[in-house]
Amino acid sequence: MIDSRFFREDCYINGLWVGGQDRIKVNNPATGEVIGSVPKFGRKETAAAIDAAQEAFLLWREKPAVERGELCRRFYQALMDNQKELGRLLTIEMGKSLKEAMGEVAYAANFFRWFGEEARRIYGDVIPSPWAGKRIIVTKEPVGVVGSITPWNFPTAMIARKAAAAMSAGCTIVAKPASQTPFSATAYGVIADDVGIPKGVINIITGKAGEIADEMCENPKVRKITFTGSTEIGKQLASKAMLHMKRVSMELGGNAPVIIFDDADLDRAVEGAMISKYRNSGQTCVCANRILVQAGIYDRFAEKFAAAAAKLKVGDGLEDGTEQGPLIDDSAVTKVEQHIEDATSKGAKVIAGGKRHARGRSFFEPTVLRDVTPSMLIARDETFGPVAPLFKFETEEEAIAMANDTEYGLASYFFTSDLGRAFRVMEKLEYGMVAINEGILSTEVAPFGGVKESGLGREGSKYGVEDYINTKYALFGGLTK
Ligand code: NAP
Repeated sequence: MIDSRFFREDCYINGLWVGGQDRIKVNNPATGEVIGSVPKFGRKETAAAIDAAQEAFLLWREKPAVERGELCRRFYQALMDNQKELGRLLTIEMGKSLKEAMGEVAYAANFFRWFGEEARRIYGDVIPSPWAGKRIIVTKEPVGVVGSITPWNFPTAMIARKAAAAMSAGCTIVAKPASQTPFSATAYGVIADDVGIPKGVINIITGKAGEIADEMCENPKVRKITFTGSTEIGKQLASKAMLHMKRVSMELGGNAPVIIFDDADLDRAVEGAMISKYRNSGQTCVCANRILVQAGIYDRFAEKFAAAAAKLKVGDGLEDGTEQGPLIDDSAVTKVEQHIEDATSKGAKVIAGGKRHARGRSFFEPTVLRDVTPSMLIARDETFGPVAPLFKFETEEEAIAMANDTEYGLASYFFTSDLGRAFRVMEKLEYGMVAINEGILSTEVAPFGGVKESGLGREGSKYGVEDYINTKYALFGGLTK
């Protein structure tokens, strides 16, 4: 048991805590200990949550934007006031270091603040009419009840990016978190109560993913499906939602390149690639998956980067100084091992780490591979673990072609000190997000999202609100006497 008032083992539906007999057990990945359980709900309970959200929607949409915004701001404040306690809960169920977990809570909180402010700026338009005596008005309306499904790697932030945008626009939400990390989600129920969110505006349901998703996609009261997770499940979900013409937002997998040009500031590039690669033990959708290094700087970069990776402190996220926690489970470790084995069998060399960590369980050594080539599995498949493969290239054109040679298009990074190159490469990278001379780019004020098979829609920023809004055209005629 976790000693926190935010730790709740029931679902939050229509402002009430609802339990069930059939349960899903949840482990702490650092210790293997069972920390609690949540209900294994299905279609029936999801339909009840959707009914509650629909009823709440009729009132919530009528609330002045300034009031919805104020409730979002209070949500922000509650998350920040309890940052450490919520961070601790997150670390225990997910494994990331407490420092990163607290950072995630702040990141999540910022979405509530940002979207709370945006609520008042959801403007319409008056379009000059082509006809005398008529007026054209465009208004913006909330789409309605939103069904949300989120992954385990950012259990607090992924819900925030959706719930805050939905609430600010006047929508209500039924959110299903990942079964491995439900407690950061059920904690949202406690916060909703604390800050006075009307019942039914936020509902948190745990259980059978397929059944919950089917109900969300088929129930006519749900008008939008928003999903963060793997491309495979995203495609299935988007197809089901499309059968009922629901709006969809899909934040899916990535295969991020980090390109280091010869003219880059070496120390900055090492630091940027480190943070991009090893944050959250390499389990982020925007993690460096392929590090492409120009021939002239390759050996020096490899040496410095491997030395930095070898210094990372691996441990339980709650221990002081831990920089890398365990992976989420054993199958995540198996995938990492397969990628390393495939690469080394085809000629790559391990220059840091390379195996399970001495701490056992799902702890893995921060690993660097050099002499990696595009024919290896790691070049195509999202590793989702602490392995950095270093590829070599000669020219700018070759780097761009290698970077774009993937079905994914989420985040990309490059390091250069040449301004002309910075613009050329930025424009040619087929990605939704590009960071130049930086290794981390997420913020609530900028549009987060991908192209190609990395998804549809944007989260955060003024663009993020649009995903929760319908545009209505009204023609007023007969205005002349
Ligand atoms: P996942 O297997 O796709 O799971 C994500 C969510 O989908 C979980 O809540 C899961 O529920 C649910 N789910 C599983 N099967 C489903 C089904 N048949 N129908 C509907 N929902 C289903 O992904 P993951 O392994 O947890 O997360 C890692 C992936 O997420 C990576 O590919 C990563 O790149 C991506 N990601 C993308 C972003 C982004 O913003 N683009 C951010 C973070 C992560 P259960 O847990 O109950 O199985």
